Amino acid sequence: MDALFGGSFDPVHVGHLIVAEAVAEALGVRVRFLPAREQPFKGAAHVATPEQRAEMLALAVAGNPRFAVEPIELGLPVPSYTVRTLRALVEREMEEGGGGGGGNRFTLLLGADAAQDLPQWYEVESLPRLADVVVFARPGATIPTHRLITRVIEVPTVDVSASGVRTRVAAGRSIRYWVPDAVREYIAAHGLYR
Ligand code: ATP
Repeated sequence: MDALFGGSFDPVHVGHLIVAEAVAEALGVRVRFLPAREQPFKGAAHVATPEQRAEMLALAVAGNPRFAVEPIELGLPVPSYTVRTLRALVEREMEEGGGGGGGNRFTLLLGADAAQDLPQWYEVESLPRLADVVVFARPGATIPTHRLITRVIEVPTVDVSASGVRTRVAAGRSIRYWVPDAVREYIAAHGLYR
């Protein structure tokens, strides 16, 4: 079944896309980008709306049959806990008759940093029923051990971050090659991050 790659994606950038392509290739699955509705750890100023973040993702994944956008969190109550989102997704797919590429469960992708917080997750005890957890990390990274982590995938990482993109836009600097061209054009057309 599909792998889920959650994040703020404010905006999506080449670092995300390189990771997702590597995971799609290693696991032989489709990757669904799952934009978070809330951005609890980020300042409210100079950020895109959830709809804008989802639109930029749609532009970024266009043309790649291994990629899709999963906007379910945008219609769920806040705060968006991952286990709650997964439960809603699994219920929806069952109603739809087991779509999402068939097979059994979702694969939840986590970066090594996010995997550190796994024990503190809301209703983490329900996670094994909902998804397999796969951690992605740069070669040589320290991976936390947790009984829920079923696999670790080494991925190439580039030193690009969404905050770096936002800072560059605010400073009037180029983000060419940091984000796909269509995303760069969207940011300019909507005056984001200035
Ligand atoms: P910000 O700079 O605003 O904190 P970000 O670039 O980390 O944002 P997120 O949307 O928060 O973007 O990222 C979602 C996930 O993508 C994170 O769990 C993170 O591990 C991973 N990620 C982000 N940037 C990279 C990168 N350059 N290489 C590999 N993984 C990345």
